[in-house]
Parts: sequence; structure tokens; C-alpha cells
Amino acid sequence: MILPEHCSVKVDGVECPYPPSFIVSVTTGENSYMISVVCLEHRDKVQKRIAMMQQKREIPAGAIEFQPIQIIGTNCIAGSSEDYVEVELKRGIESDRPI
Ligand SMILES: [Zn+2]
Repeated sequence: MILPEHCSVKVDGVECPYPPSFIVSVTTGENSYMISVVCLEHRDKVQKRIAMMQQKREIPAGAIEFQPIQIIGTNCIAGSSEDYVEVELKRGIESDRPI
């Protein structure tokens, strides 16, 4: 999946320069719709805006979800063990690396 490099919020017509921190999606039953990406700062604004758009039926009604974006996934690591430790620390969880 290719993500935009910037938060998709515009402030006074100017695009927010921050990298996105969350994928915003709406889940209705079994379907999930990715709406946009947003930085930490604009999370609340986007949530309110989506709620408004749902009331106007511009986007499907459903649960608004903010999924944290992980730039590095465990499936994509091809580096040395040094890289692996660093990722472990960033993620703050134990890895399932075979020994
Ligand atoms: Zn933003």
C-alpha cells in the first residue's frame, strides 16, 4: 500500500506539512473504507469532520478508526541483526525472530 507523504488536512488552503501518523478508515459491518491519512495534531479535527460528512451521507456511516502507521513492518526487514534490535526498541514489543 502506498501512503501519501503528508497529512491530508488543509489549513486555510495550505496542505499540512507533517508526515501522517494515522490511517483513517471507516468500518461498516464487514467493509472498511480508507478515508485519508492524518498527523497526530489533526487527528481530532479529522474525526469531527468525518462525523459531519457521515451525517451528510458523503461517506458511509460506521466506526471511525485511527490506525497508527508503522513505517517499518516486521515482514519488510532485510537488514542486519542490528537493524532488528533497533526496530524492536522502537516498537516496544518482543520480536519472533528465530534464533
Ligand atoms: Zn496535519
